[in-house]
Amino acid sequence: MIGSNFCKLRAQVVVFLMFMAAAGSGHAALQQATASATPAAPSRADILRGAYGPYRVNNDLLSYHLDVRVDPEKQSISGKNSVRFKMLADGTRIQLDLHPALAVDKILLGATPLTYVRDSGAVFVDFPETLHAGQEYTIDFYYSGHPLQTARFGGFTFAKDPAGHPWIYTACEDIGASVWWPNKDQWRDEVENMQISVAIPNGLVDVSNGKFVGKTDLGDGYTRWDWLVQYPINNYDVSLNIGNYVHFSDQLGDLPLDFYVLPEDLDKAKKQFAQAKGMIEAYQHYFGEYPFQKDGYKLVEVPYSGMEHQSAVTYGNHFTNGYLGRDWTGVGVSPKFDFIIIHESGHEWFGNSVSAADRSDMWIHEGWTTYLEVLYVEYTFGHEDAIKYVNGYKPKVQNREPIIAERGIAATPPQDMYFKGALFLNTLRSVINDDARWFALIHDFYQHFKYQNIMTEDVVAYFNQQTGMNLTPLFDQYLRHTAIPTLELKFNEAEGTVDFRWQADEPDFAMPIRVGKKTDWQIIQPTTYWQTMKTPLKKNEFDVATDLYFVNVSKQ
Ligand SMILES: [Zn+2]
Repeated sequence: MIGSNFCKLRAQVVVFLMFMAAAGSGHAALQQATASATPAAPSRADILRGAYGPYRVNNDLLSYHLDVRVDPEKQSISGKNSVRFKMLADGTRIQLDLHPALAVDKILLGATPLTYVRDSGAVFVDFPETLHAGQEYTIDFYYSGHPLQTARFGGFTFAKDPAGHPWIYTACEDIGASVWWPNKDQWRDEVENMQISVAIPNGLVDVSNGKFVGKTDLGDGYTRWDWLVQYPINNYDVSLNIGNYVHFSDQLGDLPLDFYVLPEDLDKAKKQFAQAKGMIEAYQHYFGEYPFQKDGYKLVEVPYSGMEHQSAVTYGNHFTNGYLGRDWTGVGVSPKFDFIIIHESGHEWFGNSVSAADRSDMWIHEGWTTYLEVLYVEYTFGHEDAIKYVNGYKPKVQNREPIIAERGIAATPPQDMYFKGALFLNTLRSVINDDARWFALIHDFYQHFKYQNIMTEDVVAYFNQQTGMNLTPLFDQYLRHTAIPTLELKFNEAEGTVDFRWQADEPDFAMPIRVGKKTDWQIIQPTTYWQTMKTPLKKNEFDVATDLYFVNVSKQ
């Protein structure tokens, strides 16, 4: 995802600058700005949505068939989701979720109506007889109403294109997919596959996730568009995009590429979307085959910046390079490519294929995908540009809250998960200090966890096991604390020595780092205890490779 967090970023920068101006002192301003960063206590709704509670843990999703009708005039949605699941323990209740703005019309097990209890966004469904562990069941959850539009592009939006045609789209990672359809709205459990059927007025086009199966004229002025998702999918990735789209297609090897844009943008799109091939080639080079081969790859024009909807990435970057017309990392590299195509599609590997099992660990999506941008730059424009590009992210890092948020409350981690996450991975590459080994490691990491939902502990255990190193204090320092490590250097020029150690929150923090002369780096192994080394270099000649490691340096 990209978008809402960055709006917040801009607001915070403005507030910070106002403090600077008012206080007349950078330090005082920083303290005031930092003090305001206390997260609010989770609401009951946050806990019901965020926790993997007893009525979620007792079942395992198998498939959804979401079958809805969207009325642009009435700005309403109605239909059903058929939820197929396997019970993991005997029970008489499961938890599904649907935003309180929408009505539950009925819930059926076969022909039997089920009772249910609504509690904020949760819908607890009760069964008249015990469901048995190991058995599979399907319930049909009927609902209707006017789905909520939230924030700049959140939720479900009924809009119009510049020519006045309906333009209707969903983007719901923050608020949760249950804002517009009933599902088990959490991150741990995904269906294995999904059918999406969307009935819309004749003449409009619906683009959803997966492979296009066909369309059926319903004879009442509506046409149903059927899509088939043949892989596990996050709920929030499930999307509909309804508009006056024109379609063109291409192919990368066996992979179908399909593009949907407004008619007036067709020529621009044909030119700009050519970048999709180079992007897929770059990511396939580092991580292996595009994850959703059978479903194809799509780009779909929308009026907001973009979103990684699985196999149907939405795009609103105005068919220009950079990010919304800007040089995104401010170092002259970003204008060479279309940020939204490169970032949002990177999520096909990290976010959609490898997914976090709790929103708290969303850096697995955003930190990795931001690092994928860096790899794309390296593959396409070379290593020097990649180092420039990733270091261009430094001014965006805030170091105000740990990257990993509180678990089980649907908490959104701070934006540091993007930029600091990528800078951390760039640091880790320097720690491995062997590019062939690093590229094999990240390739194998992706392959090991593809189509799975994992937590940071899984990432750390994998890296430790594969490298034979204890990288836990590194991961913990960068992900679970606010500060980055500081390399403390104390020079004794008369003796020709320098004392060095890491200042870090993790007592066992130990990280090799390149120091000395830029043309002839020397690797030292600082820990949190003082050590001494000889150096012919004076304090002002002694460099640290801060473009390869995201650290502070303090010289005395
Ligand atoms: Zn993203």
